[in-house]
Amino acid sequence: MSKLVKERERGSLIVISGPSGCGKGTVIDGYLRTNRDHSWLSVSCTSRAMRPTDKDGVNYYFISKEEFEKKIKRNEFLEYTEYNGNYYGTPKEYIEERLASGIDVLLEIEVQGAMKVKELLPESIFIFIMPPSMEELRNRLVGRGTENIDSVFGRFKRAYKEINEYAKYNYVITNDEIDKAILKMQSIIISEKCRVDRIEEVYLANEEEEIHELLLDDKHFINKDVEI
Ligand code: 5GP
Repeated sequence: MSKLVKERERGSLIVISGPSGCGKGTVIDGYLRTNRDHSWLSVSCTSRAMRPTDKDGVNYYFISKEEFEKKIKRNEFLEYTEYNGNYYGTPKEYIEERLASGIDVLLEIEVQGAMKVKELLPESIFIFIMPPSMEELRNRLVGRGTENIDSVFGRFKRAYKEINEYAKYNYVITNDEIDKAILKMQSIIISEKCRVDRIEEVYLANEEEEIHELLLDDKHFINKDVEI
């Protein structure tokens, strides 16, 4: 059977932001659980200290400020930013390669970095994860117990600025129930794959020829008096 539609095979770059404590990592993990075969979460570099739950090379590549600055000079980042006194950056390496081979690349980055990606690669999909309320964000930030008071303060303060930028994204997911939030992310990405602008070609042959080939020459139609 000949295929009717040729879709773009290139993967999508999916940029996910949201204030610290909104649960974006949990939403992404949930999404990846069932989509890992065609998706890849980029691992950023950071100069922040490791948390007890962090694994080097999994959550981040943990490097010193000096190493980070050397990488900036060598132009190794797609984007980078300073957040709460530390550097965070997306290594360029592998991203293009993966997109070209049809893999979706997910970036979990803050708003300034996301806007840089928007300038460079505007066709990317931008998703903002919202906390259900500021009270809940506060509870999650304090409750997870990974940050000292200064860090919680800095993150909470920055959350107001970040939330005000939501309109620069294509989609907003409120993370009030984790399963619903994961389903919304899945739905957004599936819908994006069905966009008309992902269709490269529709192989529709000559109508008359094909009607003959597929219908009129068929035993069900032979000797029937049908006019095209
Ligand atoms: P955390 O210290 O909680 O792991 O991350 C702090 C913030 O930095 C989060 O909003 C996270 O999304 C963001 N972030 C992580 N990696 C990158 C990156 O490579 N670039 C940018 N711009 N932000 C990042």
